[in-house]
Amino acid sequence: MPSSDQRALLRSLPQIEEVLSHDTVKALAERLPRERVVACAREAVDAVRTGILTGTVAAVDKDALMADVRLRALALERPSLRRVVNATGVIVHTNLGRSPLAPAAVEAVAQVAASYSTLEYDPATQARGSRHSHVEHLICQLTGAEAALAVNNNAAAVMMVLAEFAAEREAVVSRGQLVEIGGSFRVPDIMAQSHALMREVGTTNKTHVADYAAAITPNTAMVLKVHPSNFRVVGFTESVGVKELRALADAENARRREAAAGADFEELLVYEDQGSGAFLNLPCFGAYAEPTVAESLAAGCDLVSFSGDKLLGGPQAGIIAGSKHLIERLKKNPLARALRLDKMTLAALEATLRLYLDEERALREIPTLRMLAEPVEDVQQRAEAVACALVDAVPAEAARVSVVPEVARAGGGALPLCDIPTCAARVEFLRGSAQDCERYLVAGRDVPVVCRIKQDAILCDARTLLNEGEVAELAAAFAEYFQMVGA
Ligand SMILES: *Cc1c(COP(=O)(O)O)cnc(C)c1O
Repeated sequence: MPSSDQRALLRSLPQIEEVLSHDTVKALAERLPRERVVACAREAVDAVRTGILTGTVAAVDKDALMADVRLRALALERPSLRRVVNATGVIVHTNLGRSPLAPAAVEAVAQVAASYSTLEYDPATQARGSRHSHVEHLICQLTGAEAALAVNNNAAAVMMVLAEFAAEREAVVSRGQLVEIGGSFRVPDIMAQSHALMREVGTTNKTHVADYAAAITPNTAMVLKVHPSNFRVVGFTESVGVKELRALADAENARRREAAAGADFEELLVYEDQGSGAFLNLPCFGAYAEPTVAESLAAGCDLVSFSGDKLLGGPQAGIIAGSKHLIERLKKNPLARALRLDKMTLAALEATLRLYLDEERALREIPTLRMLAEPVEDVQQRAEAVACALVDAVPAEAARVSVVPEVARAGGGALPLCDIPTCAARVEFLRGSAQDCERYLVAGRDVPVVCRIKQDAILCDARTLLNEGEVAELAAAFAEYFQMVGA
């Protein structure tokens, strides 16, 4: 039962018609259909009513209510999924959409999205075609694989490989590689989900060839190697390379062949979940450079899987590359249908892969590669341009702006120890504060500007700013903040 105070407050709530005739709300009718404005007014009034009943609202503030209606109406117009300016220096930023696409990929998406396409039509034979064909040949060219398949993401790829080849059979994996990648991708869980029987070997820091050898039985489906991605065990460590795992698998398969005496047998596979899946090793990777997809296949993996939107710099996808007879089996698995790519992603992936046919072009045009590879001198120039734009835009008594050397990250779980030298514009606050400004830059704007706070200053990393337009946007956002706190 509401108290008499609460009942009085409820009675003082404005009627919907009264809300709609308020100037603030009336102005919205020009931008939105009346029923949308009515719905926002109802929601806002309902929110206050709930507040009164739960005791969190002790007075009805009509101006605040009208402002709330306005915010709700504006939120209908503002896309939830929208562009942001990434000034964090984290290149493959998982929360910010990982890899921005190359212009050629964006163009390919636009073309295919707005019209009919050859998605499952082969113009050469005028017959039904396969959606897999658009990227398979390119992946094979670029990695040396016999065959390939692209699905929704790499988590899906791992799931599918395990379900097809290791369901109710054993997959041997090092304890040092039972990792959690983030977003609830945990190797033991994904194995359980695909009904693979996990056979852990070795210890957290060391796994030897003999550990794998001792674990292999006639029921072993695969040796699974998982890239540790976002973490490293350093010091007293040992892991086993693909070449050695290949030799173990070859010996086991020779035994199985002999035991089968001419009949079919399930071979022991070597499968690597590479995670980031670099096609090129860039100089900035330095000592942290890892085998490329082509190198892992050449070293003897039957299958390798990796993401499309990490170091590859394409759209979200999971790519599986390897032996033809295995990929053919995967294509027939019902999961291939459930996890298939849509035409827009396929268009973006095909265009991105095509850029890799010319390495120079890939480095120039794929934003992720360009940001990773850009010489620090060039980043410094951009940081200086950011600083100049800030100095122009912000009153001198409001902030102190400088250019500082910093460390950028590949991100996306790739190369966690690799320090990429970078440069940032540093904003020290003489008015307002870094925390307050950060809130405004992110929450207060149609295009959020995401920076980093360090020691009560905001760092705007120039490595991940995509173009001059973003430099100007960033400066304008700071100018607006200081205008606000200046008043
Ligand atoms: C990132 C990653 C995954 C998951 O890939 P998504 O494309 O994000 O689904 C799986 N395994 C490893 C080793 C990874 O690094």
